[in-house]
Amino acid sequence: MTIATELPAEQSPEPGTRKATPAEAPITMLNPDFPFSYDHYLAHPDGLAVVPPELYGTEVAVIGAGLSGLVTAYELMKLGLRPVVYEADQIGGRLRTASFPSAPGVVADLGGMRFPVSGKAFYHYVDLLGLDTQDFPNPLAPATSSTVIELAGKKHYAATSADLPDFFHEVAAAWKAAVNDGAAFQEMQDAIRARDTARIKELWNELLPLMDEQTFYGFIAASNAFKEAGFAHREAFGQVGFGTGGWDTDFPNSILEILRVVYTDADDQHRLISGGAQRLPEALWHHAPSGITHWPEGTSLASLHSGSPRGAVDRIQRGSNGDLMVRERWGRETGYPAVVTTCQSWLLSTRIHTEESLFPAELWTAIERSHYMQSSKTFVMVDRPFWKDIDPETGREVLSMTLTDRLNRATYLLDDGPDKPAVILLSYTWNDDALKWLSLTAEERVKLMLHSLEQIYPGVDIASHIVGQPITVSWEADPNFMGAFKANLPGHYRYQQRLFTHFKQDKLPDSQRGIFLAGDDVSFTAGWAEGAVTTGLNAVWGVVNHLGGSPVPGNPGPGELLDELGPISLD
Ligand SMILES: Cc1cc2nc3c(=O)[nH]c(=O)nc-3n(C[C@H](O)[C@H](O)[C@H](O)COP(=O)(O)OP(=O)(O)OC[C@H]3O[C@@H](n4cnc5c(N)ncnc54)[C@H](O)[C@@H]3O)c2cc1C
Repeated sequence: MTIATELPAEQSPEPGTRKATPAEAPITMLNPDFPFSYDHYLAHPDGLAVVPPELYGTEVAVIGAGLSGLVTAYELMKLGLRPVVYEADQIGGRLRTASFPSAPGVVADLGGMRFPVSGKAFYHYVDLLGLDTQDFPNPLAPATSSTVIELAGKKHYAATSADLPDFFHEVAAAWKAAVNDGAAFQEMQDAIRARDTARIKELWNELLPLMDEQTFYGFIAASNAFKEAGFAHREAFGQVGFGTGGWDTDFPNSILEILRVVYTDADDQHRLISGGAQRLPEALWHHAPSGITHWPEGTSLASLHSGSPRGAVDRIQRGSNGDLMVRERWGRETGYPAVVTTCQSWLLSTRIHTEESLFPAELWTAIERSHYMQSSKTFVMVDRPFWKDIDPETGREVLSMTLTDRLNRATYLLDDGPDKPAVILLSYTWNDDALKWLSLTAEERVKLMLHSLEQIYPGVDIASHIVGQPITVSWEADPNFMGAFKANLPGHYRYQQRLFTHFKQDKLPDSQRGIFLAGDDVSFTAGWAEGAVTTGLNAVWGVVNHLGGSPVPGNPGPGELLDELGPISLD
């Protein structure tokens, strides 16, 4: 049902066979707020920046060993600086993979699990580290042999979207019309394919003031296409609308957030990392890049830290000598000329005593007004991928990837071959749907989820296939995260603009320089690992510039192009 798959991957030209025309060039996550080609920046043979030799070995604190912190630390290390990484819990952050204890090779991705191929900066690191990826079994995706959509007790089985009743095609057509009529969807995608940054900015800057105060729901309800179609279409759209489905818990969020996703195909052509998403941050931690500045061959983040990051940070303040003093929860305090924070930014006031004068008051407002989504996932391991068994009566698979308006909302089926244990992600939910699970134990969650599935698949004994203990997570309950990922509400554009552009500090007083924010919640695409990577690269630029380094000739960085391509101010 996605509107973004009109040119399926298999129709794209084979790499190397002929030059892609602009119409066939891939969509990248070239964010319209700042359409800077981070993938080109990363691919430049002379690197990202130059640091003068007298600065080699200078320590820079990086708070958080999630993807953003590790990209930041890895790139600082390559430039000859000495990143000092602090982590409150696990390396990987929200790229967290859990193993089922009785079969450690069988894994569950508790946070990020499916990564759009348009996220070119993210895949720069996946490819660099030689990680294998596979198509993710999203609803109606080529890797998904069947999908069931169950709404108001009515069940629809589909091998491809063509099998669905006309009603769902009308819903898809209404969304396509709504974004084309109201948000220049096709023109924006053409400009993104062509990397025509002037055109992207022209289209987006015109839309921003019109859309900033509009909710996602308000946008579709006001569109002619959905007005004509009626409420049932809006309701079904909320369940199966595009890409991964289940977007109605995003209805109160700003429509700008949704447009950024669909323009850049972030909802489409997802791949998973074989063995689990956490392999990416772990590989970054252990990787020893060759030929790097200053450090001997074989140096990695792990070797610079003797195997383990420092502990949780509980205070950041300016020291009497001008350094930024970072104190750990157990008391050790170290001074740095620059600090990068990559934890969710709410934590800077709730869990880390961050001296107020380090940030302008308007930035604190932006941090405090941030809106985070809740999210819950519950996984069980099963003895084998029994869902591929064919029901002799119907000729269909006994269980399918499922979208439903029941408690579960979305059930995913994940396997690694026929004769091995497999995994069911019984339920993946956001916001209100996630809050319904928050106070329940894992066992209570699983019982209710199985009950829902029994109503959809009567006679299929899922429970008899379950082995081992369930694995469940509610990100909002974890004090090191306090939420799953940010999602801006209407009117929040100004806050996001302040957070995103803070890495360029030339207009700040000296007393507020040297501390940089990164992480997906600082990006314009929170909830996508691409934003964790790209804001990490912004922070690297900020640190190098702050310490006295310079850009590589011919490879301008995000700070050089921010004024030209960056987010505009609204009033
Ligand atoms: C449920 C869920 C589903 C998602 N699905 C997808 C998806 O399918 N595709 C996708 O691209 N992205 C997805 N994401 C988003 C993706 O996981 C994030 O964008 C990415 O992992 C964020 O990385 P980060 O480094 O910015 O932040 P984090 O991963 O949050 O890293 C910050 C780190 O800071 C640490 N920290 C916190 N407090 C302190 C302290 N006081 N001292 C030291 N360290 C501290 C934390 O422990 C953490 O390790 C999902 C996220 C969630 C939660």
